[in-house]
Amino acid sequence: RPGAEEWVPASARVDKLAQAVHDCRGCELWGPATQAVFSSGPDDAAVVLVGEQPGDREDREGEPFVGPAGRVLAEALEAAGLDAEQVYVTNAVKHFRFTERGKRRLHKKPDVAHIRACVPWLEAELSAVRPRVVVALGATAARAVLGHEVRIGAERGQVLDGETHDVVVTTHPSALLRLRDRASYGAEFDALVADLRTAADAAA
Ligand code: SF4
Repeated sequence: RPGAEEWVPASARVDKLAQAVHDCRGCELWGPATQAVFSSGPDDAAVVLVGEQPGDREDREGEPFVGPAGRVLAEALEAAGLDAEQVYVTNAVKHFRFTERGKRRLHKKPDVAHIRACVPWLEAELSAVRPRVVVALGATAARAVLGHEVRIGAERGQVLDGETHDVVVTTHPSALLRLRDRASYGAEFDALVADLRTAADAAA
């Protein structure tokens, strides 16, 4: 089947994976993107955060969560008492998917086929890092981590026991950026922080 598998080095450490990802041709998303964006954070972290895919800024800079959603995430981590330097951050899909509108590149949600194609990278990362808790930020990440469709509203904030690590599902910080009024932003921010706190407690 098509997918990243043949480009993922077996039993490799994170630094090796982060190099190898640049050669991946597991789906067509590598073509229009600037570069693959892998992870940041310590390779022995107790908590792994999984986002959806790199955004416009991330694609240009080659680092995950350096754009507006990353700012929201950093604030939420701090409010939850999690040290941003101590968590490992990655994405379900490693290349930026977008549509062009004039000079702008607009985020386009990855298809299930892209998530499936890219999941061998995430599996290799989890085998290398061996976290206690994986936090899936949003529906794309939840599908990649759990292998099936997840309704965030129904499952968020619970500690789902896994064989090798627990999983906590929550919303993607970019969802907060679309909220226009302060009250809804505040409520969603607090809910994200509460879920991150649950993950922190599960990892402790
Ligand atoms: Fe490979 Fe994932 Fe990039 Fe597709 S999105 S080319 S599977 S790294």
